Amino acid sequence: MRIKCLMNCCFRLPTNSMALPATRSSFLWGIPFTLNFNNNNNKRFYSHSQSRSYISNSNSSSAPRVGFLGIGIMGSPMAQNLLKAGVDLTVWNRTKSKCEPLISLGAKYMSSPEEVAASCDLTFAMLADPHSAVDVACGNHGAANGMAPGKGYVDVSTVDVDTSKLISQHIKATGALFLEAPVSGSKKPAEDGQLIFLTAGDRNLYETVAPLLDIMGKSKFYLGDVGNGAAMKLVVNMIMGSMMASFSEGLLLSQKVGLDPKVLVEVVSQGAISAPMYSMKGPSMIQSVYPTAFPLKHQQKDLRLALGLAESVSQATPIAAAANELYKVAKSHGLSDEDFSAVIEALKSKFQNS
Ligand code: NAP
Repeated sequence: MRIKCLMNCCFRLPTNSMALPATRSSFLWGIPFTLNFNNNNNKRFYSHSQSRSYISNSNSSSAPRVGFLGIGIMGSPMAQNLLKAGVDLTVWNRTKSKCEPLISLGAKYMSSPEEVAASCDLTFAMLADPHSAVDVACGNHGAANGMAPGKGYVDVSTVDVDTSKLISQHIKATGALFLEAPVSGSKKPAEDGQLIFLTAGDRNLYETVAPLLDIMGKSKFYLGDVGNGAAMKLVVNMIMGSMMASFSEGLLLSQKVGLDPKVLVEVVSQGAISAPMYSMKGPSMIQSVYPTAFPLKHQQKDLRLALGLAESVSQATPIAAAANELYKVAKSHGLSDEDFSAVIEALKSKFQNS
């Protein structure tokens, strides 16, 4: 099925947003391309069979230009996967040095979000929190200053509903399209192109960027109006934060009563409460080692935002509220930049007594 989108481009609606066949042809700005899977490492490659753009302000002889703002733990591997797939990529990060590995792989660099947005057809943003997401999108030299009709802005940061709506308003005021697309999945899924996108906003932009989301992720959900993606992400991370806090209590209790916590991890992994997170993080938590995949400060931010969401609809969330307190204790003891599994430290007697 083909539709004509607001960007004045012709492309095919994906027939199945949840699963990709081994090889798949699609259209991006009227440019037919094929996603090829390399059998060795399951990497996908983006190859144009025609070089033609329908974007009004695009260079008519080139492929769609994609920008990426925010080259942190998640942004870096996501951008790298786009580059490896052959996407024409321009990057920006507040700390420029984090862009260097991508530049050496062929990415272009611009010195402000505004310049990236002005020079690209599509701009992705992966920022830390609501404050930075708004600043990069709407602040001085922010992306909105470089947006125009025919362009699209895709915010993949985890923010609250109101923040996402605010960014959407600023972007849409320029005539551009907006999609929120926070991700479920951490550093490793980002590296492996196995993220889950929780999208909402302009449906046409969703359809247009679908091939790019498929490069970075394993599945994607379109959830309707702006705010629904942000809300879904906060609910997921509220559950995750509580699960990790509860798991931490269990590990420490097992040790205190003389059990081997390694055996607990094994028992949990074989039962109905099994979760990859427990098997992945449990062994290092037992050794009090917390290599950062998801910074603890971001988990606490997500719990705080989820509690705000719950309050907005008068939903009781006592478990999440208790978990949030534990992450706050961990933050106050300097664990913000450790992995969120370091929340277990907040339960140890050295912190309980301080
Ligand atoms: P991160 O490594 O801390 O990266 C944060 C990014 O935001 C960096 O590029 C940082 O720039 C930028 N930033 C922070 N404050 C800024 C400001 N005031 N102005 C401009 N840029 C600013 O975090 P991450 O793990 O990649 O997470 C990014 C987002 O994805 C967060 O919303 C997080 O909740 C979400 N998320 C993370 C994971 C995960 O497992 N890590 C999973 C799903 C979703 P600098 O490099 O200059 O500091």
